Amino acid sequence: MKFIWGKKELTLMIIPGANRRTVRIKLPQSSLYIVPSVILLVLIGFLVAIHLMNIHFRETKDTMQQTFDGQERQLVDQITLKDSELEQLQNNLIDLSQQADDFKGKLEEIKKLNHVVQLMSQTGGTSKNSQPSGVTTDVGGEDVPVSSEQVSQMVTDTKQDLTSLVGDINVLLADLTESESKLQEAERIREITPTLWPIDSHTITSDFGVRRDPFTQKPTMHTGIDFDGELNDPVYATAAGKVIEAGYDDQHGNHIIIDHSRGLQTEYMHMNKLLLRRGDTVVKGQKIGLVGTTGRSTGTHLHYEVHRNGVQINPYPYLLTNRKGDR
Ligand SMILES: [Zn+2]
Repeated sequence: MKFIWGKKELTLMIIPGANRRTVRIKLPQSSLYIVPSVILLVLIGFLVAIHLMNIHFRETKDTMQQTFDGQERQLVDQITLKDSELEQLQNNLIDLSQQADDFKGKLEEIKKLNHVVQLMSQTGGTSKNSQPSGVTTDVGGEDVPVSSEQVSQMVTDTKQDLTSLVGDINVLLADLTESESKLQEAERIREITPTLWPIDSHTITSDFGVRRDPFTQKPTMHTGIDFDGELNDPVYATAAGKVIEAGYDDQHGNHIIIDHSRGLQTEYMHMNKLLLRRGDTVVKGQKIGLVGTTGRSTGTHLHYEVHRNGVQINPYPYLLTNRKGDR
């Protein structure tokens, strides 16, 4: 192959061999500059493209790296958070378990108290026994991480404890309700039993029983107790009840009879003034009249009687409390 220079054009001759025909290609002279220029431009373009691709690749790589780093950090954060949450849950469980134990201990105390209350109300109520709680306050020792099996066991134990506690509480509530109603009944009986002294004075001038009659000097039955008292000293109802008699007669003077139900009545005689009428309801310790010497009486005093099923009995054993506000 060789170039033949002409005036305006170039001839490219290709000679394949001895017996073969020569090929001539005529080209314009300007192609001598254009072809290398085109080749150079293509080469430069190719290099620029590679460079641009390289830059793009690096940017993509950086972006992917950043994304990956971000996701990795997020994942680590999440795992750390989960670990922290799990630890918190375990701590809560331990607290709950401890509280269940404490609660059990308290419940045992309440049970004992309930038993005492039942004994106090003399009801002979039943007591549901259970094992004392094994609450331990000793702490210390090696710091061993808790396993999932242990946590699971703790959950099961705590759940069982709480279920058992709920059962115990229900039984206890039933016991307490029963105790409460028995205590209320005991309180009601205490209210209607004449246990107060009927007067502030504790000077007894004549006991219950056979004595020499102050008027006739003959042996007679004294059916109540005489209390010494000043004129117009207050007289108190010794128990709650209803006034079934309030009036005057020559024997009893100004007198009041109070019915306390359950077959018990009390009578107060020789008063100077009555503060109640028949049909009135009285509470224990209420002022019902003033000391005097009306009726068959030799001086200012209160004659007090307790009747059981219509018969006068010795009031002395009933004089248990001496203060008006006390029962
Ligand atoms: Zn008397």
